[in-house]
Amino acid sequence: MPRLYRRALCSPVGYSRLRKIHTMLTYEQARNKVIEEVGKRKGPRATAAVSVWDALGLVLAQEVKTDREYPPFNRSTRDGYAVRSSEAVPDAQLKCVGEIKAGDTVRDVLTSGTCLQIMTGAAVPEGADAVVMIEYTSRENDVVRFERAAHQGQNIVPRGSEAAAAQAMLKPGMRLGYAELALAAQVGAVQLQCAQRPRVAILSTGDEVVLIDETPGPFQIRNSNSVSLAAQVRIAGGEPVILGNAPDRIEDLGAKIERGLKEDALVLSGGVSMGKYDLVENVLKAMGAEFLFDAVAIRPGKPAVFGVCQGKPVFGLPGNPVSTMVTFELFVAPAIDLLSGAEPRSLPLVEARLAEALKEKSGLAHFLPARVEWRGTVPEVKALKWQGSGDIAALAKANCFLVVPADRENIEVGERVSILLRKDVV
Ligand code: AMP
Ligand code: MG
Repeated sequence: MPRLYRRALCSPVGYSRLRKIHTMLTYEQARNKVIEEVGKRKGPRATAAVSVWDALGLVLAQEVKTDREYPPFNRSTRDGYAVRSSEAVPDAQLKCVGEIKAGDTVRDVLTSGTCLQIMTGAAVPEGADAVVMIEYTSRENDVVRFERAAHQGQNIVPRGSEAAAAQAMLKPGMRLGYAELALAAQVGAVQLQCAQRPRVAILSTGDEVVLIDETPGPFQIRNSNSVSLAAQVRIAGGEPVILGNAPDRIEDLGAKIERGLKEDALVLSGGVSMGKYDLVENVLKAMGAEFLFDAVAIRPGKPAVFGVCQGKPVFGLPGNPVSTMVTFELFVAPAIDLLSGAEPRSLPLVEARLAEALKEKSGLAHFLPARVEWRGTVPEVKALKWQGSGDIAALAKANCFLVVPADRENIEVGERVSILLRKDVV
């Protein structure tokens, strides 16, 4: 252990100087601090070539351009008849002289007085300027009768109207979802240069915590936080690095934190409250951490801490499981976006109608486990019964958090409230 921080922690003077600093921010301010601070450290990331089959959720580190115009030919969007629009007037009859299937090479030129049967996705022949849907025609042998007037360009997507040749379609920093991957595949970009997932060290703390495959003693608990955090890191686009649990002892914490600082970011759970054995903040401080906040006006999650230690973003999340989950979503997720080379995604906040009246203490913004249902036109939300921030079972029934602003106490049925969606289940 570095001498400096042993000395800082062992000296009673040093210890008292390292008490919480209490810069209490709103959650929006705290989130902005994270974004600002981690944003400064964005820098170029290591990249790797990844197959489109495996690149879901990764952040692109290259430009992807079209290999040709899109669509590459005038494409029919309907099954019907390719016509000259001036000839396909109500009750007109045109001779059908052939058919064009999707994929067919089209050489025919449509001549006056005729039409060609055409399928969705097929190339519209030269001479035709409209496709009439088969539903608006009737046919007897070769003769097609038209019920309605066609107009120029109807049911045709012109060549090059979706994209020009060599047009940049995907840019560095874009996150690859299913549509982006399909676009890459469409233009033949089957290998994509992507930012490597930031490695996020996960360290739980607490003398009461045992590994999940151990049998806890009567007053011990299993390390569920490392499991929820690993899942949240994955969803946020990071690579979790599980460091296990550190007991509430300076030396153990110091050694594990030191290991965690080798990764791109470190997330700790527990040990950031005001208890005698809540040592995380002090150990971090002794290791050189600068804190940007160490309290947020939210419940659960008030003692959350964010700082930078040896150049790495470090989050000290309160150990109560629901607090850990909420504070991760608010503060850690945007940092993972930035460390991936992407802009931080906004919080998935949605407006809903309150279905059951609420009474909460004012002063802190509350994030209550809740269920939203989309029955009518406006989503309806109800807070679930819970036993506070240790109640994982309540959260496992929830699909969102109901956000009660800090200045509200009573909210009536029918009022509009904000809900924070659980991205993993909604
Ligand atoms: P702390 O923030 O360290 O005061 O922890 C608050 C409470 O959270 C503890 O008393 C435990 O009940 C719970 N807790 C702490 N760490 C974990 C963990 N890794 N997994 C599940 N629960 C935890
Ligand atoms: Mg603890």
